[in-house]
Amino acid sequence: MSLQSNWFPPAVPGKPSGHYAHLIVLRETTSYAVFQTDGELNTARVSSGLANTSVMTRLALFKRKQTTPERLTGRELLRRYSFLSDQPYDEKAKLAMDSNDRLICDYNVHFCNQCPDCITYGFAIGDAGSEKSKVITDTAYSLTDYASSHETFTLNAPYESGTMSREGQVTSRINELDHVKPQVLFPTVVTVRDVTHSLFEYTLNNLIRTRHYGAQTTRTGGVANHILAIVLTDGEVFSNLKFCQALYDVAREHFQPPDPVDTALARSLAAQLVPNLLQADGVAINQLLQGDELTTYLADFMERTSNERAMQELLSAAFADSRRYYEAYIASSKK
Ligand SMILES: [Zn+2]
Repeated sequence: MSLQSNWFPPAVPGKPSGHYAHLIVLRETTSYAVFQTDGELNTARVSSGLANTSVMTRLALFKRKQTTPERLTGRELLRRYSFLSDQPYDEKAKLAMDSNDRLICDYNVHFCNQCPDCITYGFAIGDAGSEKSKVITDTAYSLTDYASSHETFTLNAPYESGTMSREGQVTSRINELDHVKPQVLFPTVVTVRDVTHSLFEYTLNNLIRTRHYGAQTTRTGGVANHILAIVLTDGEVFSNLKFCQALYDVAREHFQPPDPVDTALARSLAAQLVPNLLQADGVAINQLLQGDELTTYLADFMERTSNERAMQELLSAAFADSRRYYEAYIASSKK
């Protein structure tokens, strides 16, 4: 059995209509990562588990730190396959299209309001209107505590001689940076609401392909997204925090800090939790795709997206759906 594509609305509806596709994911850092604002890693004091209620400090991965890189992955592909222009928006000329008839969509400068990125992830630009994100995410928390999940590096910028002092003066070019360690796990639910099958595939592809999060100017911040389940429901499900705490309860006996948690074991324990967590949510489940069926579905999907023509077709179908929504609900409201 594969994912039930006919469950998705045939067109993106103008009003919320209760089609929730949830991607249950374990995000795993694959290199040192810097998920921070204002020079410090973000942390939160929360209960360690649902059964274990002692409080602990966890790393927090904010919503924007998760969605921005995924958006940029999709937007890069839209430009690569010529659905969007590679030119910046010209504030004077105010042209919607470039000379090759490609839409100009300039991230956070001038949103085109009609590409799959604008419609799926939303936009808000001053008085020019806004579109709510149909990709719903929340802050994710580290499974393990802050103390065993981070490392502080002192980044030296020595003088040319390789020393840290010159003529008796010690350099002040020393920077302390907090890094998330590799193999730290962040249990996450990414929900895509009221989108067509093509726009769901667009979002799924972004999630699979995005390999770097956090400070985007560097090669650090590697993250692998392990998809544990895809669930189609008529409502919202458990939070990232609850998922993290439930996993903590069943995984903690295997913790051996400062060693990382065995990823394969955590994946397996987390996947086993999903049906029970869903049951407690009281939502109607149309489909829960997990295990071998999910593995087959994802393998087929990735085989498709590894082919340029199939990738082009996927983006083309997503674009047709986003443009249809634009014409029905956005363009008409501007008149
Ligand atoms: Zn756009």
